[in-house]
Amino acid sequence: MMKMLEGKTALVTGSTSGIGLGIAIALAEQGANIIMNGFGEKDAAITQVKALGVEVEYHGADMSKALEIEDMMRFAEKRFGGVDILVNNAGIQHVANIEDFPVDRWDAIIAINLTSAFHTTRLAMPVMKQRNWGRIINIASVHGLVASAQKSAYVAAKHGIVGLTKVTALENAQTGITCNAICPGWVLTPLVQKQVDARAEKEKVSNEEAKKLLLSEKQPSGEFVTPEQLAALAVFFCSPAATQIRGVAWNMDGGWAAQ
Ligand code: NAD
Repeated sequence: MMKMLEGKTALVTGSTSGIGLGIAIALAEQGANIIMNGFGEKDAAITQVKALGVEVEYHGADMSKALEIEDMMRFAEKRFGGVDILVNNAGIQHVANIEDFPVDRWDAIIAINLTSAFHTTRLAMPVMKQRNWGRIINIASVHGLVASAQKSAYVAAKHGIVGLTKVTALENAQTGITCNAICPGWVLTPLVQKQVDARAEKEKVSNEEAKKLLLSEKQPSGEFVTPEQLAALAVFFCSPAATQIRGVAWNMDGGWAAQ
């Protein structure tokens, strides 16, 4: 039986780890060929996705650099004829009060968490329009909907990407191209583990205790969201049933934003 995304190509930025890797795996399970991207321990991640029997390529573009993103999109076009499913996921975090926020961290967060999605979207669009089919999924955050102290750059970037999502959806509303955002609450990935470690050290508590403290503050369920749950939502956004879901910022946050 043909799988839902057979014949499609998905580019998932920041897919060497965490949520991005979870989404790459779920899209590959649906038969999509995958272009992976991101830093760090990439080989194990690539092997994991390749094991699903789809074609997998990797491009190491630094998502803070427009020229490298352009090179990645040219590579996607040469190798697969273009990108059908674009998942803008790469992201970083830095936590500090505004008056102490390092300017270079502000610039990097805005570039990686927001501007990179503008570049990939503008460059993926011509082929999507030609094919009259496309799925753009922006991994925002519950911080695209509400704020937390000490996360000025992150909250600004994530609110920004929710705005970009709506504009992209509207400009393509009468085409087969949809654009939506996913807004996760706490997910236990390396990005959050750093915040758990910092909290454990500051409050002189165990790692497990620090996780509980983090969750109890914001996430009423008291449980982390998982990459697999987020990936299932991304797959749903790619399905025919989701054709009229356009420009939403869908939170999966254990009740965080309901408060
Ligand atoms: P992660 O640290 O596990 O993964 C981040 C990925 O981005 C990695 O593959 C990393 O190599 C890549 N990356 C970082 N800088 C890059 C750059 N300059 N160029 C290319 N790739 C780069 O983090 P994660 O938690 O999986 O985060 C993924 C996305 O989900 C981010 O946009 C993050 O803001 C968002 N998010 C995470 C949480 C959470 O609780 N973990 C919650 C809400 C939203």
